[in-house]
Amino acid sequence: MNNTTTALVLKDVTLEYPDGQNNTVRALDNVSLSAVRGTVTGLAGPSGSGKSSLLAVAATLIPPTSGTVEVNGSDVGGLDDTGRARLRREEIGIVFQQPNLLPSLTAVEQLVAVAHLRGESTGPAAERAAELLGIVGLGGQASQRPHQLSGGQRQRVNIARALMGNPSLLLVDEPTAALDHERSASIMKLLREVTEEFKVATILVTHDVEFLPLADVVVRMRDGVLTHPAPVDTP
Ligand code: ADP
Ligand code: MG
Repeated sequence: MNNTTTALVLKDVTLEYPDGQNNTVRALDNVSLSAVRGTVTGLAGPSGSGKSSLLAVAATLIPPTSGTVEVNGSDVGGLDDTGRARLRREEIGIVFQQPNLLPSLTAVEQLVAVAHLRGESTGPAAERAAELLGIVGLGGQASQRPHQLSGGQRQRVNIARALMGNPSLLLVDEPTAALDHERSASIMKLLREVTEEFKVATILVTHDVEFLPLADVVVRMRDGVLTHPAPVDTP
């Protein structure tokens, strides 16, 4: 079951939200997608097309109305709340637009705090946290609090924190929306690097098409429908 190379399989996933007036909004319409470890899947599409909804379903935060979600070989539909929470802790790293760091904690403490939630002891967690901060280029900022860091540095802490639990799946939603061009480019490059180094299956939502070439596969969403690239003919 574990350590399959396919970290995420969505099959015929439909998601409808109640619209508050006895009707529903179909945010995902029969979406199928799989994501392989060590690769970046770029997810593009206009605002309101369902990108964040797809990530929420993949993150096991919202159950689909129909269809199946498999994370690292486990069928999410067969799990109760506890099972889903464990799956999230053990297999899924989440990086959203706003880093949501705790204002009173230093960079290294942000990472150790999530390890504590997993029941890890401080010593090894602090060691791994320091190592991860080094990898994301913040070796010198381990003792800084969020207000002492730039937006790009905060997003790096966020990425390091998402990797603390050794996930197989990394879900990233518009990570550079609040950053200038140069910082955006270096965050995207970092995501590419950690995808390979940690062998995570990364799903990267971006509406900045400039960064799509760094993805291994690009899928596009429109009105809840996912379009896959046409297969390349090999002669
Ligand atoms: P994107 O991330 O591509 O901008 P979303 O997944 O956020 O798209 O939204 C897809 C559709 O679902 C939109 O029509 C949006 O208004 C609707 N939607 C998103 N979240 C909710 C919600 N919690 N309740 C009702 N409708 C929602
Ligand atoms: Mg969104």
